[in-house]
Order: sequence, then structure tokens, then C-alpha cells
Amino acid sequence: MDKKIAQSIEHWKQRTGYPTLSVKAALIDMDGTLYDSMRNHTASWYRLMTEQGIDCTRDEFYLYEGMTGASTITRLWKRQWDKTPTPEEVKELYHQKTLYFNELPKVNPMPGAQNMVAGLMAHGITTVLVTGSGQPSVLDRLATDYPGAFADNHRVTARNVTHGKPHPEPYLKGMEMAAVEPWQAMAIENAPIGVESAVASGAFTVALTTGPIPTETLAAAGADLVLPSMQALDDILPILLPLISDKQ
Ligand code: CA
Repeated sequence: MDKKIAQSIEHWKQRTGYPTLSVKAALIDMDGTLYDSMRNHTASWYRLMTEQGIDCTRDEFYLYEGMTGASTITRLWKRQWDKTPTPEEVKELYHQKTLYFNELPKVNPMPGAQNMVAGLMAHGITTVLVTGSGQPSVLDRLATDYPGAFADNHRVTARNVTHGKPHPEPYLKGMEMAAVEPWQAMAIENAPIGVESAVASGAFTVALTTGPIPTETLAAAGADLVLPSMQALDDILPILLPLISDKQ
């Protein structure tokens, strides 16, 4: 594992041109990373879109993961009807998607995620949420499931960015909130679009395969380190953190 970590740091140095990695903040995605919520998201998107008469597959919503709801709706309308929805239509459809999402069983924290976040905090790393989501049912649970980790001024959501992932803005905004530079930030993601956003921001990017998207796809999106699960990240954290931060 030490060799794999060393290679990932080298990968990051090569692509960013920064001489040293000195992580002080972790910018963490929510759906499919902190919460095991993607099955519910794909199910509610699929239900909404098929009801609208849009041809789609359940699995394609894993590929749009990380985009704002508005982007997903616009993308499918354009594909099906070559039409752009009005902001009112987007609002109404996203509201309906939220209702369908809330009808599904409650989502749980991703196994290993609570311990992983506690491990970051114990190491003195500032934790920031970076999500494209605006789902209150999940956002409202963060304070309970991850106590002290994601204060209101350490949350990038659909509400406070102009450009969603894959644009780097959400991760750059997260860095601004933590008052760190790209060489002081690590990102933790699970989806290709999220990885692209994190990579473009310059953060050291760790991708986790927590759904059907394979390792190769996350590596191709530019991730510096790809791990098979959140639990795997939690397990290697004691080895990883001293290698990517100043502290031993
Ligand atoms: Ca995600």
C-alpha cells in the first residue's frame, strides 16, 4: 500500500506541477461517499423521468451523479425533445424527485465513513462538504451522523455554486471555505463527474468505488488514488495521512 500511495502522490505532482503535498483540509462528496444514497437517487430519478415519458435507464443516473438536479433534468429534456426546461419546470420536477426520494427507505452513512471522518478530524484536518445535492432530508442529518465535521460555513451545496461538478468551482469554493490552497487539499469522491471536478481544482483526489462504476473509469477521470470502498480508505488512513500531510 505504501508504494501505491507514493505513486498516487507522484501522479498528483506530475499533473499539477506542485512540488509538495501538505494536506490541511479534506473536501468530501456526500452521495455515494458519506451516505449510501445512490440507489435511492437513481430509483427516484428513473421514476420521475419515465413518468415524464423520457427514455432512460436506471444505471445512467450513476453517470450523472454529482451534477446538480437542474443539469440532469436539462440534459434529459434536450436528449428526448431537444427542448430546454424553464427554471419553473426544473424547480417543479426537482421537487417531485425529492418527494419520490423521501418515499424510499432512509439512507445510511456509508460503512466506514463516520470513522474515516473522525480520523481526519483527530489528525487536525479541516473537513468540508462538497456536494451537488440540495436534498434537505440528507443534508439535515449531517450534524447528527458526522458531529462537528460539517458546519454551515463548511458546506458547498447546489445552493452556493454557479457551476456544478464537473466544473472545478465546487472544490475551489470548498478550498476557499477552509482557507487552503490546492496543494493543501484532498478530495474524496465516488463518481466520474465529481472526480473531474476535484482533479480540475488541483486537489489530491481519492476516488472510491462504492457503486457500479469501475476503478478504470474513476482512474480515467483523473483520480490520483482509487480504492475499492470507503472502508478501505478508513483502513489505510493511519498510513495515508502522515504521507500526505506535514504531521506524522
Ligand atoms: Ca457522489
